[in-house]
Amino acid sequence: MTKTNLLQGKKGVVLGVANKRSIAWAISKGMSDAGAELAFTYQNEKLKGRVEDLVSTLPAECPLFPCDVTDDEQVAALGEGLSRNFGSIDFLVHCLAFANREDLECGFSQTSREGYLLAQEVSSYSLTAVSRMAAPLMKDGGSIQTLTYLGSERAVKNYNVMGVAKAALESSVRYLAADLGEKGIRVNAISAGPINTLAARGISGFTDILGQVAERAPLKRNVETEEVAGAAVFLASDLSSGITGEVIYVDCGYNIVGL
Ligand code: NAD
Repeated sequence: MTKTNLLQGKKGVVLGVANKRSIAWAISKGMSDAGAELAFTYQNEKLKGRVEDLVSTLPAECPLFPCDVTDDEQVAALGEGLSRNFGSIDFLVHCLAFANREDLECGFSQTSREGYLLAQEVSSYSLTAVSRMAAPLMKDGGSIQTLTYLGSERAVKNYNVMGVAKAALESSVRYLAADLGEKGIRVNAISAGPINTLAARGISGFTDILGQVAERAPLKRNVETEEVAGAAVFLASDLSSGITGEVIYVDCGYNIVGL
């Protein structure tokens, strides 16, 4: 992405880097190129080394915190760590989701109670949990953003329980935007087209989805992670100061197509 100074003087945290293909990593590079100071989280010890290696390639030193979003203590500790390192923050990027693999393969009616609740907890409730943690740190207002997918509003084969979690996530974006707006905090979602990442490979038939989108999307191709990063930089910047509670599609136009 072209270097800009759109985020010069802004500080924020990115949740959801797992490897170099992660959407969160493309967003981080875009934000770093735009002049932002970044902090990162990693889900568990297994991912820590990989996230450390990636983060060390950025020009500035970035604090790193453990944060499994199902653990309230880790979310609280993240808030304390950010406060200690940065004092205040300007943006938070929530770029994570999880569902059991078997729930992304079976007929939707076979979804277990446990699998349903797990997908909701990690992929949807976590946005509310981290927004509550971040809001007091956004002393001059701020931007919270999350990643969603069209499977929230259309029945996409095998997306199943994750589609229901994304529907709850998008609704949470609107309720959080309404709640936090008076503090100058904006909350938005980017609905990205399919991208070949670790999480996406858990969805059975994902390669077929990529092929169909490339054939039918108005731009006749799949979206690049850098294009998602561009929207994320815009949403964290003052250029988007009047936008909140929105779902912005970065999907080469696929969502507008009927037959
Ligand atoms: P990814 O596998 O690179 O990232 C998923 C991240 O979720 C990982 O970093 C993982 O550590 C994190 N995570 C899972 N459970 C967690 C937990 N309990 N606590 C903390 N972190 C946890 O895949 P990605 O495709 O970059 O996914 C990022 C986001 O983008 C997800 O919300 C995904 O649904 C969304 N999205 C992806 C696509 C796509 O096609 N790849 C399309 C639209 C939206």
